[in-house]
Amino acid sequence: MALLQLTTAGCVSTPPDNSNPPGADRNNEIVENRGADKDNWWDELPLPEWAAFEQLPASDDWFEVYRINDAIYAIYEPGQFELAISYLVVGTEKALLFDTGLGIGDMRKLVESLTDLELVVVNSHTHYDHVGGNHQFESIVGLDTAFTSMNAAGRPPAELAEFVSPGWVWKPFPAGFDREEYSSRPYKISRIVRDGDQIDIGGRVLEVLQTPGHTPDALCLIDRENRLLFTGDTFYLAPLYAHFAESDVQQFAHSARRLASLVSEVDTLLMAHNVPVASSAYLLELNAAFASLYNDDEDFILTDGNREYDFGDFSIIVPNNFRKQKTVE
Ligand SMILES: [Zn+2]
Repeated sequence: MALLQLTTAGCVSTPPDNSNPPGADRNNEIVENRGADKDNWWDELPLPEWAAFEQLPASDDWFEVYRINDAIYAIYEPGQFELAISYLVVGTEKALLFDTGLGIGDMRKLVESLTDLELVVVNSHTHYDHVGGNHQFESIVGLDTAFTSMNAAGRPPAELAEFVSPGWVWKPFPAGFDREEYSSRPYKISRIVRDGDQIDIGGRVLEVLQTPGHTPDALCLIDRENRLLFTGDTFYLAPLYAHFAESDVQQFAHSARRLASLVSEVDTLLMAHNVPVASSAYLLELNAAFASLYNDDEDFILTDGNREYDFGDFSIIVPNNFRKQKTVE
């Protein structure tokens, strides 16, 4: 899950809007309100970065579909606070769906309108806003972690009710969607993968990079031939969440270091929230940012009892006691 502060997302190619200057106070406000009505976060839509991409018709008004290039589509859900982005990558033999979104719209119908190839689903991690449509698919690649198995068993409506409440959603729900029954539906993983495993979709190979930190099952996909990295929630241009019970700051820092080592092999990042594309140069910033968390003089603000460190185009939220965790280990 990623609860996103929108203001800093505007920094990929467009100067920030001065009416909403990025900064710690703004971050603090958003995090504390957690999507409440008073934020009116939807007033900042549409995010201007999307205008750089051709928008295609969508089978379901819940989604917006954009062509990133000839083989990659971004499937965006701007109606809910997460502003989740899933990606359909089309090979010559199969199509890979990286995340299945919130499970509010009909993801399967949508991807079948874009390709008739056999589909394989890979999840960047198993928070609810990335696995919502998994139950609609038979071929699902996943990691062998306890966190993955727990989420594959589903989550009941009571645990997800907040995420479809009025402050979180501004768009009308699709016909037939019942907010009261919204849940994370169970699904079966059909193929276990681990770091370094390759998924060949014909004409294109995607390699799994395990990047734990945001969750134990966080992964990125690298397309070495095309110099692309699908980052999931390990990097995007908004507050990065390392403060959940299932998060691990040190692992996240380690993953950031590893990704930074790939900067010369990757040009473009494809991210899972807000806006789709950023330069791989951000991988160096991400690594430097995590390294700086351990400097005693690094400034932070407290947001809901967690520490938020601001690095300009993104921030990192960690538990207030994370240094203590480091000392213990
Ligand atoms: Zn997440």
